[in-house]
Order: sequence, then structure tokens, then C-alpha cells
Amino acid sequence: MTTATGHNNTVSSICCYCGTGCGVRVTPQANGTVTVIGDEQHPANFGRLCSKGRTLGESTGRLSARLLRPTLRHGKDALPQPASWNDALRMAGSKLSAAIREHGPDSVAFYLSGQLLTEDYYLFNKLARGLVGSNNIDTNSRLCMSSAVSGYKQTLGADAPPACYEDFDHAGCVFIAGANMAYAHPVLFRRLEEAKAANPAMKIIVADPRRTDTASIADLYLPVLPGTDVALFHAMLNVMIWEELIDRDYIEQHTEGFAVLRARLREFTPRAASELCGVHEDDIVTAARWFASSPATLSCYTMGLNQYSNGSDKNAALIHLHLATGHIGKPGAGPFSLTGQPNAMGGREVGGLATVLPGHRDPANAAHRAEVAALWGVPELPSRPGLTAIEMFEAAAEGRIKVLWIACTNPAHSLPDQTLVRAALEKVDCVIVQEAFAGSETLAYADIVLPAATWPEKDGSVTNSERRISRVRAALPPPGQARADWRIVADVARWLAADIAPERVRLFEFTDAGAVFAEHAATTAGRDLDYSRLSYAILDTQGPQQWPFDGKVGRKRLYADGVFATTSGRARFLDVGWRLPADKVSAHFSIRLTTGRLRDHWHSMSRTALVPGLTRHVEEPLLSMHPRDMQRHRLQDGELVKVRNKRGAIWLPVEADDSLRPGVAFIPMHWGAAALGGQGVNALTSRALDPHSKQPELKLAAVSVEPARLP
Ligand code: SF4
Repeated sequence: MTTATGHNNTVSSICCYCGTGCGVRVTPQANGTVTVIGDEQHPANFGRLCSKGRTLGESTGRLSARLLRPTLRHGKDALPQPASWNDALRMAGSKLSAAIREHGPDSVAFYLSGQLLTEDYYLFNKLARGLVGSNNIDTNSRLCMSSAVSGYKQTLGADAPPACYEDFDHAGCVFIAGANMAYAHPVLFRRLEEAKAANPAMKIIVADPRRTDTASIADLYLPVLPGTDVALFHAMLNVMIWEELIDRDYIEQHTEGFAVLRARLREFTPRAASELCGVHEDDIVTAARWFASSPATLSCYTMGLNQYSNGSDKNAALIHLHLATGHIGKPGAGPFSLTGQPNAMGGREVGGLATVLPGHRDPANAAHRAEVAALWGVPELPSRPGLTAIEMFEAAAEGRIKVLWIACTNPAHSLPDQTLVRAALEKVDCVIVQEAFAGSETLAYADIVLPAATWPEKDGSVTNSERRISRVRAALPPPGQARADWRIVADVARWLAADIAPERVRLFEFTDAGAVFAEHAATTAGRDLDYSRLSYAILDTQGPQQWPFDGKVGRKRLYADGVFATTSGRARFLDVGWRLPADKVSAHFSIRLTTGRLRDHWHSMSRTALVPGLTRHVEEPLLSMHPRDMQRHRLQDGELVKVRNKRGAIWLPVEADDSLRPGVAFIPMHWGAAALGGQGVNALTSRALDPHSKQPELKLAAVSVEPARLP
């Protein structure tokens, strides 16, 4: 079992990067660093680690990269000054209290991170909704997973991925759409490679505008145009219907809405869809046949579906393929959204999104609000809709947010349309930044800096892509005056409660992370994800567990009985229409720019840039373009170019890359303003939102490319 400690104070914990959630064994060293090996007993990775996980130890112990004590800035033009924790808590509490009294609870907003632990998230949520009285709490998971959430909820009735990692070993066909698993989920990709080696009959289909390393193992690669996946999926379903490859019994017994969708699909012939999505009609037919005819088909998808203004439609259209063929709820089958961040799933369970309350409850539902209010012992929860990530920064730019508390994320790098984001950060009266690393661009806007502990200094839990909850354990004490995130929240909350609602001080009195987890787990009782009988003691003795958890075991797969989480118990086909992405190419901006991850970096590189070995894979940001586009624009390999659109401009070298479709260009998301000029790559990306998920269209910006004349 992956239990607490071993010899040499070795602890079992979880890699802090991607949503695969690999188990690690962490041993503290006398020099203040740690060594890390893969945990052979953890069911997510069985000892394997990728380049990022293997080098985790090298990113620890760098005190120069860390925030070690609180700082306060008294006035926007003043320099930040070191402060005591007492002064920092007093200033944070009094700014919150003044904003609530003078401008109302909705003048306060919280912007969090899928890298926080479940316990951190839970207390932020309790503070926002149970003390401040606002639903203005959202997370950077809004940027990556919210369209997957709305896709699941709209079709299957609950935000619950039905598959598990073991399904790679049972699948006859794996359909990967908008996911570069080789880079973003490398250990899962390795598992897929091994499954394919063990079962040469397995078919792998990859749909992506770039022929990524993931596509290197594909039996069929579909070079879909950015944002046009709905046409591809609808045409595949059309072929399945035409060739009688659908499972009529499953559709009849377990779904609703098929007839309406079927009528719409008539216009999506392979030929018509090919015109829209750029995939050859013969390949659409082959993909449909392989998907439907396999004994079990698993789909894996992530940002390439989600980060579009039609992301929810794309999710639903892919899930339709599983419902129409019955490839769900059985070994090797199901629509499996892979989470990007290590605890994106935990944030969804705990209510870390403006649109979710603890235990997958809905803040728009009065009965759900009353249930949570009763659990917390408060009279009521706020009913006014909360602001989602982009809406929050738009409100801030308009002067409607007076205190913005940002934790464990770097919006001055990662949010789209940086001109607006930076204007918003300047406009807010008081920006609180709770952060571990000194390199975050967002710190430049902070009035209060609260130094946080980070991996491997934190205790708590995370949930990975397959709904598996694992313990995160501290191997080192936090450096300097840094504190655990949950503790910082509890400290500020008690100060604020004493000022505005003294009877609620007790709501934030916790002895340790385990006490927070116990309270959170209780909120899941009777809900679809129920793990109210799970505890740190069980996780310590029996290892990581999937939800729902019945007290003895977790459930591997959902919907095996064909009963879904909708009111009727039937899964829904939605009447998904055709919509182009928001950013359209034009004569001026004729290149479709897409962004994504590199194999060896993570987000804005606050940790991975500390590891020399990780910087060698790709040493600098480059614009990748198809050689024909470079010829058309008279550009040479290595030449410095200006990439521009109506939102901003950046400068970087260009390289020829024939893995891209002509007309599509790529820039990695990791480098910010310091490397690219302007405001980093997100100077160019769009804040157009998906109407259901409120996820912004980070994956597509129409741009022009020209030889650079430096500003
Ligand atoms: Fe860490 Fe993800 Fe790599 Fe596993 S696959 S070691 S969780 S980055």
C-alpha cells in the first residue's frame, strides 16, 4: 500500500504536475532537498514517472526562487515592504471587511488554481460562500476543464468521467481527440503504447490540427481544422447510422433525444463535413467504422476540445458517439476527459467553481444551497450567480471588484486577452496574491503577498483524472515563513469573522488538513460522488481510492447498469448545431494560431525552469509554421517575426514544421512577456466564451505573421 512513511522518513505522495496523478516516494535530504522515485504500488503509474516527475527533487530547496515572508504595499506607487504575518492577516482581513461593508459581498472575488489541494479549495469555498457571502469564486480550471464538465452534465447528468486507466488495457479502439498525451499525460501515453504492443489489433485514431508525438502511434491520423470537431463527430455518427453500426437496443433502453439529433445529422455527410473540418471523407468513414465496430472504444480528450467557444458542443458530440454505440460503462469503453492539472477534479468536487457547490451541488438550486448552509451551520448561502474567471476580470476592469484574492496561479501570464487582464489587476483596490514562487508575473500587481508552502511541503489530498483520491504528504517543512494554503485561508477567515460575524469564527477552527478533509468528505454523502466514508486513515492503510466509495471499495467505472445521473435516468443526445469558433480568419489575419504544452515544461515554468535538464528539450519559444506558409510569407527558418492581431503583438523566431496543417501555426504556452515581448502569447488569445461552460477560446486566435521590426 502507498502508506504514510517508511524508513529515512520517506513519504508516499503525488506528483504535483499533471492530472495523471502519479504516485511518488519522496525522501528528504540533509541539504534541504528531496529525492523522488515512482511509487510502484500506486495504481496510476505503478512506479513510472515522466521527465517532469523524475526531476521533481531538483526543483526543491531553491530558496532564491521562493517567497519567504509576507509583504505589504501601502499605495499603488509604493514599494512592497516585508511584514509580519500578524500585519499581513490584519491588512487582508480589514481590506475584505471594508469592501464587504462599503460595496457589498460581491465586491470581493477569489481566483484559485487546480494545483491547490482539496483541503485548500474547501476552505476558500467556505470563506467565499459561508462568510463573505459571495459566489465570486472561480479557478484556472475554468480555462481547461469547464467544457468537459458541461459536456458530461448535459449528456450524462453529472460531472463524472465514467472510465478509468485500466480501460487502456481493455480497449479495442482508442480515439484521441484534441489531446497530446505524449506530452501532457506521458505516463498514460506509455500505458497506451504498452496496451497497443500487447494487442496489435487495437486501432488508435488521433484527431488534432498538429501531427503531434501522440499521432506517431496512430493507425489513422485526422488533421482536423482548429475548432471544427463537431462536423467530424457528427459525420462519424452519420456514417454509423447509415451503415447500421449503431446499437439500437442501447439507444432505445438508455438514452433520449436521438431522433432529433438524427434529423440534424443528415446534413453532415462525410463529403459536407470534410469541407468544414478538413479531414478527407474516406478517413471520416474509416474512423466511424473502427470506432463503432471495435468491441470496446475509449475516447481520450482534453484542451483541444475544451478551449473553444464551442467546447461544450464538441464534448457533447463526442459523447454522442459512445451513447450511439453503447461504448460506455464496460471495460475498455467510455468518453474519458483527461484533466490537465493535478487537482482539477478535486476542485470540481469541492465547489471551487462559481457554478458548483460542495458535493457537485448547484448554487442556482435553493435546496442545494440550504443543504450546504445546514452542513456549515450558517443561515443561508448567497443566491446571486458568481463570476466565472473571465467575467471576474472583466468586472474588475470595470471597477466592480475591490478585493481580488489570487492563489497559486498566475493570471498575468495565463489568462487570455492580457491587455484586459492587466488593466483589471491595476484597477482593483487590493490584490492579494497567495503564492510560493517569486517568479510569478502577477506579483507585480500585489498589494498583499502571502507566502505559501508548495510541493513537497504540503499535506492534503488530490483527485486524478480517473476519480482516484490520493494523499499528498509533506516531506519538508515550508521554508522561511511560508505556510500551508489551507492554514492561510483559515487564518484570514478567523480574523475576518471576528470582525464581521464573530459567531462564525468556529467555522474555520481546524487542527490539521485531515480535519478539513473529514468535513469536506461529509458534504458528499448521498451525492453521485459519495465518499463520505473515506478518511485519511483509510487512505493511509488501504491506499488511493476512486469515488464513489462505499466504505470498502471505490467504483472503477460508472453507468455499467445503463442508468445515468439525469432525472429520467437516461443519457441525453443533444441537438448540437454547427458553430464556427469566435475568432475568424480574414485577409488581414489569415493564420490560425493554436497554443499548447511542451513535454518538459509546466504552465508558466515557475518550477520546471529551475531544472536544467528540462530546459534542454526546447530551449526557447518558437513560432512553428508549415513550410508552405513560410514561403508564402517570405520567411526564413530562425528569422525573428512579429505575430499580431487586434488584441496585441509578440516577437519570436519562426521555425518550419510540417507536422502542422498549412494555415495553422503553433506557439507553446509556457513563455511570458519576458521572452516574447508584449504580454506573452496570451496577448493574442481570445476571451470569447463558450455559452454553457464559460470557458475561453485559448486554442485559437486569428493572427498575421510578418518579419519583425523590433519596437
Ligand atoms: Fe507527473 Fe504527470 Fe509525469 Fe505522472 S505523467 S510524472 S503526474 S507530470
